[in-house]
Amino acid sequence: MRLDKFICKSTELSRSEATGLILAGSVLVNGESVNIASAQVHENNHITLDGQQLTARPSRYIMLHKPADTLSSNVDGDHPSVFNYIQLDKTSELHIAGRLDADTTGLLLITDDGRWSFNVFNPKYRCEKVYRVYLRDSIEGDIVGKVAADIRRRFEQGLQLQGEEALTLPAKLDFVSAKEVLLTITEGRYHQVKRMFACIGNRVNGLHRESVGEINLDIPLGQWRFLTADEISSIP
Ligand code: URA
Repeated sequence: MRLDKFICKSTELSRSEATGLILAGSVLVNGESVNIASAQVHENNHITLDGQQLTARPSRYIMLHKPADTLSSNVDGDHPSVFNYIQLDKTSELHIAGRLDADTTGLLLITDDGRWSFNVFNPKYRCEKVYRVYLRDSIEGDIVGKVAADIRRRFEQGLQLQGEEALTLPAKLDFVSAKEVLLTITEGRYHQVKRMFACIGNRVNGLHRESVGEINLDIPLGQWRFLTADEISSIP
């Protein structure tokens, strides 16, 4: 991580205060003065500030049951930020691993561990995200009928999203009813679910994320909790 971030994670200093001390030469990394705030350091490095050894606070991993009309952002905008629901210090150090649209509800993962959040959506790991999708138009015919089977095949084979060259990775569609489906995808492209249903001429009226890999949403709307050790290590 960056040296200035490490200083913030191991003290109560703000990013600008940390930068000031780094530039003033107060910070040593493995005994050498480093006065570049963006220098990369590892938690195992011996880092001192004015002679005091620093130890970074452990990373935080959180699930929030995101309500509708909230923003997956650190600041308020047209709607309130999801961070209004989390009563913790230093929420500015946290970021969202896989944003949801303002009108989408469900499982939102929040952390300060950049490598972990990168891997949640790293296509290499094919981490499955399950969405419950409420559709405008019924998928015609009975749910085991030909139309449903055809749509399921198209999702499995990959769809060409508007403006993109690469097909979507294989996705799994399970029908709950003619207007409600469970969609499992392993990527996180921009507005992916809505654009996938647009490809087949339908429209998403409601969207809810139920799980990410082995992490299942199990708390009431608007509540949050820390992830368990098993949930954290379920992401590579
Ligand atoms: N796909 C979407 O279209 N929206 C979301 O919020 C999440 C996935």
